[in-house]
Parts: sequence; structure tokens; C-alpha cells
Amino acid sequence: MKLELIVPAAQESFRNRKKAPGPHLGLAMVAALTPPEVEVSLTDENVTVIDFQKETDLVGITALTITAKRAYEIADTFRAKGVKVVLGGSHPSALPEEAIQHADAVVIGEAEGIWENVIGDFKANRLQRIYSQCERPSLLDLPIPRRDLFADGAYYFRNTISTTRGCPYACSFCSVTSFFGNTYRCRPVEEILKEIEAMDHKKLIWFVDDNIAGKPKFAKELFSALIPYKLKWAAQASVTIARDDELLKLAAASGCVILLIGFETLSPGNLEVMGKKVNVVDKYEMVIRKIHSNGIAIHGFFILGLDEDDEYVFGDTVRFAQKMKLESAQFACPVPYPGTALYESLDNAGRIITKDWSQYESSIVFEPKLMSRETLQKGRSWVWREFYSIPSIWRRLGITRRYLVPLWILNLYYRSFWRRKFRANRDSNKVNS
Ligand code: SF4
Repeated sequence: MKLELIVPAAQESFRNRKKAPGPHLGLAMVAALTPPEVEVSLTDENVTVIDFQKETDLVGITALTITAKRAYEIADTFRAKGVKVVLGGSHPSALPEEAIQHADAVVIGEAEGIWENVIGDFKANRLQRIYSQCERPSLLDLPIPRRDLFADGAYYFRNTISTTRGCPYACSFCSVTSFFGNTYRCRPVEEILKEIEAMDHKKLIWFVDDNIAGKPKFAKELFSALIPYKLKWAAQASVTIARDDELLKLAAASGCVILLIGFETLSPGNLEVMGKKVNVVDKYEMVIRKIHSNGIAIHGFFILGLDEDDEYVFGDTVRFAQKMKLESAQFACPVPYPGTALYESLDNAGRIITKDWSQYESSIVFEPKLMSRETLQKGRSWVWREFYSIPSIWRRLGITRRYLVPLWILNLYYRSFWRRKFRANRDSNKVNS
């Protein structure tokens, strides 16, 4: 039996690029969960053209909301040729009845404990419409993801690894808690080390956890165990990492180069509405200074156009990010992903403009409260341009600091990433107007 696993690209301009940031670890895990007699291949459309003529028995496609429309197109194409298709990932998990219109089966939630049944049922010609997790799977004895299936030389960070699932918090805009449940599960540290040891070129590692600092006791154990490996690593963490000096020092000692941190907003009112109680705006400066003083760079996440934001949000946010010399940052607008509390509240208020999921990558898909959609779109573009202007990069990075060259490369990457994304968005708006 042949199984083809596919990662769709969010938009046309992202298809078949020379290099993408990182591979899809989730599908490499699905491949590892597949019985060994099945011949598995993996196509990431971000870096490889999908071969619709390829001989295959079953196709598995993962979908986020931003890739859902493309995932459905791919699924429809294979099904028209008589190939059975299974859809999974966060979007089909949130909207299984929508996804099943384009698939023979939908997997809701994590694959462990389900995927083996999907393959068994397919072989026995009794594929069910919906496969759903009853319990959150344990992270004990997970197989090692099939990294051998990743295209060679196609990723900046090939060595991605997951050490936890879920997040102890439940921010209204975030799909992590709705997908992984209200749990925070950690893998045994010795199994993580075994997986790292099995990696090629393991000097630079990207922990793809949603919050690596969710359980300080576990994070300290992990960071302590990493020290002898002399790695460099990056991860997402909540601001809480800076409240624990020992944890921060261990992160630095174990090779943490950059932390990706969701500051989200400078408005306490917005934080209150989004339920992000761990963030305290008055403490942001202290958080940033502490992380920087440990020699760790910061990639900040901000959301513009929340309900308390008026037109001052653009200047205020970019000036803060520049003043604090954040090494890099992303500036998004609220996106009501299905399955989140934000989606429910905006939908109930009739403020969602479109459910064309392909627009969820970069268009403004909801009605903001204190400004027009056009103002928000223009303001967001201005913030990106301003933050990634050459003088701004220069002022933030300076010339005498650690990791100067990689940080400049990262900034130049985001500078061109946004231009590309904005151009695609402008073009799609032209088509829709
Ligand atoms: S802290 Fe981050 S990962 Fe956790 S729920 Fe909030 S946004 Fe999601």
C-alpha cells in the first residue's frame, strides 16, 4: 500500500519555494505512526510541486484554516481520480462537517491512537467518515518522526522537535487549547534527548512547542539535560519565563538563542478581553530587559486592531518594539480561527466578513471596532515597513552584538516575507473587488 502525505501551501506565491522556514513535524509523526509495511511519501507544497499523477492508494492532507481552501482543492483533485483522501489538522478538527465534504474520512485531534485504525480500516475497505480522540494521547514512548521524508536542503530549520503539547493558558484567539485540550503534556526528557541524538546536524534546534515554559519544573529539567550537548536553540515561550531567574539562566546556559514571545498588545483592556492573564503590560520592559541581559534575543508577536485599539495603536506598538530593541517581530491582525472563543464571539456579533478561508492568511476578515478595515490594513502594512526599514533594523541590532549576522538575515527575511505577503494580499483584494 502507498500513502502520500501532503502539506498544502497557504497561498500561490508560497508554493514550491526554494526554501521554507521549517518542515511539517506533525506529518512526519503521522508517517512514523504508519505501519511499516505501508510505503509513505511526504510532499510539502511550500517547497515541492504536488504530483497529482503519482500512483498512490491513500492521500492524507493536513490543514490549518489558512491552508484549508487549498487542502480542499487538492483533496477534490485526488478524489476525482478515485483516490481516497483523509483530512486532519486544526481546521478539519474544528469544522469536521465542512471538511468531510472534501474527504472520505476526517481525523479530529491528535493522530496517536487513531491513525493506526484509519490505515487498518482503509485496508479492510471500511473507512469511517469521522475518527475522533476520546482521550488526549500520552506522550510516553512516541516514535521518532520520519525526518528522512523531508526534502533535502529545503528548510532553514530542518531540526524541529516537539517536547510538550498544549498550553496551560487559553487565550481567546488561539487554537492551541481547543486543539490540544485544556492540558499541558510533557514528554520524558530522556526520550527527547534520544530524539535529538538521532538528528543529523543537530547543532541548531527549533523547539516547536507552543509554550516551552508552561511547566517550569519540566523546562528546568530539560534545559539542564541539554547543557552538555552544546546546542543552539529557539522556542516559543510565555512571558512567565522571565519571572523565574533560574529558568532563564538555564535556558541561556543550554544554548537558547532566541525566544518567540506573544506580547500581543500594549493595552491591559485588550489582554483582559482575550483572557491572556499571564501578560502584564507594565512588566513588559522588565521581561525584555531580563531576557536580553541573559544574552537571549526576542522575536515578539503583536496583534493590531483589537477592540480597544484606535489608530494610535500602530505608532505606539512599533515605537515600543523599536525602543525595546526587539530583534524581530510579527504584527498580525485578529484572525477568528474556527474553534476559538474569538471566532464564536465575532460570529455571534455578526462581525466576521468572510468565511473564505484563503483570505485568513493576510486579509482583514472581521469588522474592527474603532477603525475601518482599510485603516487597519494600511496601518499594519505601515508597521511592518517601519519596523523592517533598514534604519530601524540598524538601530535595533547595532553592530556589536552576538549572532549579528543570523539576526540581520532573519530581519531581511521578514522584510521580504512581508512584501511578498502584502503583494499577494493586494492582488487578491483586487480580484475580489
Ligand atoms: S499563551 Fe500562547 S500558546 Fe498559550 S493559549 Fe495563549 S496564545 Fe496560545
